[in-house]
Amino acid sequence: MAIKAVKGTRDILAPEIRNWTKYEEMARKLFRRYGFEEIRTPIFEYSEVFSRGIGEDTDIVNKEMYTFTDRKGRSITLRPENTASVVRSYIEHRMDLQARVKRLFYIGPMFRYERPQKGRYRQFYQTGAEVFGSSHPFVDADTIEMVVRLLRDMGLTGLRVDINSVGCRECRPNYRKALQDFLSGHREVLCEDCKRRMDSNPLRVLDCKVPGCKTVVTDAPSIQDYLCEGCQGHQGQVFQFLDTLDVAYSLEPGLVRGLDYYTRTVFEVISEGLGAQNAILGGGRYDNLVKELGGRDVPAFGWALGMDRLMMVLGNRKLYTEEPTFYVLPIGNDLKYAVATVATLKNAGYHAVVLAEANSLKSGLKQINKAGGRFAILAGESEKEKSVLILRDMGNSVQREIPVGDLLKEIENEIAK
Ligand SMILES: [Zn+2]
Ligand SMILES: [Zn+2]
Repeated sequence: MAIKAVKGTRDILAPEIRNWTKYEEMARKLFRRYGFEEIRTPIFEYSEVFSRGIGEDTDIVNKEMYTFTDRKGRSITLRPENTASVVRSYIEHRMDLQARVKRLFYIGPMFRYERPQKGRYRQFYQTGAEVFGSSHPFVDADTIEMVVRLLRDMGLTGLRVDINSVGCRECRPNYRKALQDFLSGHREVLCEDCKRRMDSNPLRVLDCKVPGCKTVVTDAPSIQDYLCEGCQGHQGQVFQFLDTLDVAYSLEPGLVRGLDYYTRTVFEVISEGLGAQNAILGGGRYDNLVKELGGRDVPAFGWALGMDRLMMVLGNRKLYTEEPTFYVLPIGNDLKYAVATVATLKNAGYHAVVLAEANSLKSGLKQINKAGGRFAILAGESEKEKSVLILRDMGNSVQREIPVGDLLKEIENEIAK
């Protein structure tokens, strides 16, 4: 039996892959304009990077990591997300000494053992941005605006930024206590996970997707009423800067995000075309994580975007412009004329291939039709002798002889038709 891709993984093939690469190109260009540098961390790390970086009592760490022991008995994990790795790298390379503010972005695959469903894979792709070294609210707004701009540049509409604050070390304990008190009155109707979370991490109950839990938390106290002066001030300024940057947002007091490391700002960008699971990206401020992973006390802000979902939202829309491939048929054993023709085309930036394996005009044309090619160029012995080429439109099978020197001019006209 033929071997298939591992469950929950897939091959990304043409033409879909063209949207992926075009998106990546757009993202790289845009992020550089905002002062971000690309970082590529390894696909795997010592497991500790994630257990300490993401938090022990999270679904990711408890249930979803691909962890294995290497030949020397060390515990290794395929990265389930990239923030912890980037922080590890930031600390390891003492980037805090390189610049007061360090802006990094990444694009690449992540791995989680989750139940596969539409738009969710065990190898999935994320783009992310992280800013280290500034606690200024402008950084929050600016980094959010950057990704909103990227999505707009891709032609996405119906985008919404949901935003909230999860407080800080000063004020969150008070809220946590109030929330626990509230939840203990509803313990019986909470799901099993939430009964446990109530004690370990009550804020995560707000994130639970189980209908019973969702109903309970609609009446839960709002963290907005518990924010300290510092957190309130920070949030107010983030809102002002978002206004300045012309980003529409809505305050969602129930938004907490699933990870332990967030402080103050958390946000999600929602695409209204996605239905129930509609967040394309999310992130927030994580002022304590660098220190918790062994670095200096460096504040940070970041987000991660799910590329698989983004591509789903994009659907049939094309980010790239379709460029025709020219198939050059040698007709005969001497490929030189065909090779020279293809070289002329490639040097001018066109896509062109020699059909070396076509042993007759008929089989060559069949091959081109199968590939969906628009143009064939016949470059055989007789054409070479007359210094001409035959340009054939595969759509209507009309072909004409052109002087070899006019090739580029002629195909330019053809493409423009
Ligand atoms: Zn606070
Ligand atoms: Zn629950």
